[in-house]
Amino acid sequence: TLNQLSFDNSYARLPKHWFQPMPVQPLKHSHLIAFSPVVARWLDLDPCRISPEDLVRRCMGEIEWSGIAPLAMKYTGHQFGVYNPDLGDGRGVLLGEVVNAQGQRYDLHLKGAGKTAYSRFGDGRAVLRSSIREYLAGEAMAGLGIPTTRALCLLGSEEFTQRNGMEPCAMLLRVTPCHIRFGHFEHFFYSGQHDDLRRLADYCLERYFPELQSAEQPYLAMYREVLERTARLVAAWQAYGFVHGVLNTDNMSLIGETFDYGPYTFLDRYEPDHVANKNDHQARYAFHKQPSIVLWNMAALAQAMLPLVERSLLEAELDRFDGLYQAERLERMRARLGLQVVDGDDRLLIDRLEAIWAEQGIDHNRFLRTLSEWQAGDAESTAALLGLCTQPDSVASWLQDYAGRMQKEAASAPIRQQQMRSVNPRFILRNYMAEEVIREAHQGDYRPLQALLPLLRHPGDEHAELARYAGPRPDWAESIYLTCSS
Ligand code: AMP
Ligand code: MG
Ligand code: MG
Repeated sequence: TLNQLSFDNSYARLPKHWFQPMPVQPLKHSHLIAFSPVVARWLDLDPCRISPEDLVRRCMGEIEWSGIAPLAMKYTGHQFGVYNPDLGDGRGVLLGEVVNAQGQRYDLHLKGAGKTAYSRFGDGRAVLRSSIREYLAGEAMAGLGIPTTRALCLLGSEEFTQRNGMEPCAMLLRVTPCHIRFGHFEHFFYSGQHDDLRRLADYCLERYFPELQSAEQPYLAMYREVLERTARLVAAWQAYGFVHGVLNTDNMSLIGETFDYGPYTFLDRYEPDHVANKNDHQARYAFHKQPSIVLWNMAALAQAMLPLVERSLLEAELDRFDGLYQAERLERMRARLGLQVVDGDDRLLIDRLEAIWAEQGIDHNRFLRTLSEWQAGDAESTAALLGLCTQPDSVASWLQDYAGRMQKEAASAPIRQQQMRSVNPRFILRNYMAEEVIREAHQGDYRPLQALLPLLRHPGDEHAELARYAGPRPDWAESIYLTCSS
């Protein structure tokens, strides 16, 4: 149970000026809204034996949780391309680090826990709407096999704060091995604290990349590993139509997980220039710009590591990014198309398909799921596919080439279809689904939210009772308006 968790708070042992000790400022009438059994098991907790009341009261600091040492981390970062030295955990605290029986270490970070030294103009709180969205996103990304932070639980309250009108406050207990952001490095670099920078790099090597400590140049090896993971991550986003929305360097995790969910969107229609965040007037974080923005963020990290690694070596790593990204993108898309044999023309076939999706604004996730059931020459499955398109002719001609390409594959149709279904989910977390469960949650009904969780965790399964979520988005979804306000 919770009081048997084994805490070992390595970050709290780092120099005092790296953080501010900060207890949780509890919310009134807090209660459990959602809980992740899988995350509980990471911590060696038996999900069936956790008392919701005990969990809530510990998070709120109403029951002493022995072993925790809550603190707000200092970091900085580039926001929309501009360096901001005044960032840090402005509304979340790292409660502590749990080490499980296998020796794996997880940060427990409570988001929405009140004001800290780094709150600036903010109130230190997170509202229910954005907390639900972050909770759902973690479950959905995990369900898709995309690296992500997740949460152990989501807590509601009867306290309100000003956002889009008055909104209920909530807290999210985020669990991940890593809360180190690119912005942690930038803080020590730009403030001229280069001894601390080195110490941070050593800490990260020991904690996240122990096998690289014996490399000839450990800092370079670490940078290289971060670059590789990050390139793979953004390739996965592009393959599934995920728009992060706020790709500032303080929202980039050192271990290559999707981190800090704000106004994110899974594309309902394949629109390369889609911008998720209505506050992003320059369209800096548009869908198709994500690979180049993430590379820009990698360059910002390289800049911050200049006191540790020779410039030319970092530049050589940056030059590898596009190749790594393209290779991973190709691999993801080849799997989604059921291509296992390697063929030199596959990239062309994929590029053509993406161009068709973009031209016709096709829901590419539904397209690929439907393609998983397609058989050349079969009228019914062809009609289902063409029904998703506005100009069936160009799709039909692509399908002809695809069918030709399929002849090079060895796998039988049933095997291929099974493989394709495993990477082409029936369900995607669409903004309107989140909006629906948020609306109900605001009325005090959390059942629709809870009903969504199995679907997100196992998005390839049938979930007959929620089949409507596999269909096209409703028209009202067009008007959903997402901003940084959270
Ligand atoms: P974000 O845009 O959510 O990544 O947040 C950027 C920075 O603003 C981080 O340092 C956050 O901790 C801080 N922040 C965001 N919302 C609040 C809030 N309501 N109160 C205090 N700080 C906040
Ligand atoms: Mg952030
Ligand atoms: Mg945020």
